Amino acid sequence: MRLVFLGAPGVGKGTQADKAAIHYRIRKISTGDLLRDAVRNQSSLGREAKEHMDQGRLVPDSVVIGLVREKLADPSCANGFILDGFPRTIPQADALAKVLFEQNLRMDRVINFRVSREEIVRRLSGRRSCPKCQATYHLVFAPSKNGSLCERCGEALVQRSDDQREAIEMRLRVYEEQTAPLIDFYEKQRILLHLNGAEEVEAVFRNLLQSLAVPQTA
Ligand code: AMP
Repeated sequence: MRLVFLGAPGVGKGTQADKAAIHYRIRKISTGDLLRDAVRNQSSLGREAKEHMDQGRLVPDSVVIGLVREKLADPSCANGFILDGFPRTIPQADALAKVLFEQNLRMDRVINFRVSREEIVRRLSGRRSCPKCQATYHLVFAPSKNGSLCERCGEALVQRSDDQREAIEMRLRVYEEQTAPLIDFYEKQRILLHLNGAEEVEAVFRNLLQSLAVPQTA
């Protein structure tokens, strides 16, 4: 199964991608996670990406396309994969189609997770994460039992720099301008499914599995 999870930042596509990857035993590829790893490792790619990410802007297409191309070539993707947060622009979607075409493959489904703007801002501004083990929390919806420390490893939790108010506004603007056009792009290919991401995690996941179980009509 080859899937793309599409949606604005904060719709919960990363959480759903984690669950679906376990369920279908396929690889999850999150460009956000790959880029954050590169920033942590202070690689040259990470240094280039950091500035864009901190401001809530997109990292240049050439950088992320290269990253994804490399990951898709890995044998662990042979059974299928979920792309979380990629593509985010039309040139990225074109590049993805080209990579798949070269391997005689096609995308099965693109899931568009929908959540209201107010809910997105509420989710992102309350998000906290552990810089050591990467566990994520939410001040209101999923607080750490250890207060401001990570439940798993005791490290002090931090707010992602791009989850601060100004960066959130920028990310939502960037989504509308550069990523939302992909809805139409994939609708035309008849592989798009819309899903309400505003419900609680397990309910969204149930709906996701049900939608994917329905045979494709295209
Ligand atoms: P995410 O965790 O998916 O919200 O991504 C965090 C940040 O990483 C984004 O705000 C962008 O700066 C960068 N990023 C992630 N995926 C992409 C992509 N496909 N194209 C460009 N930038 C990306």
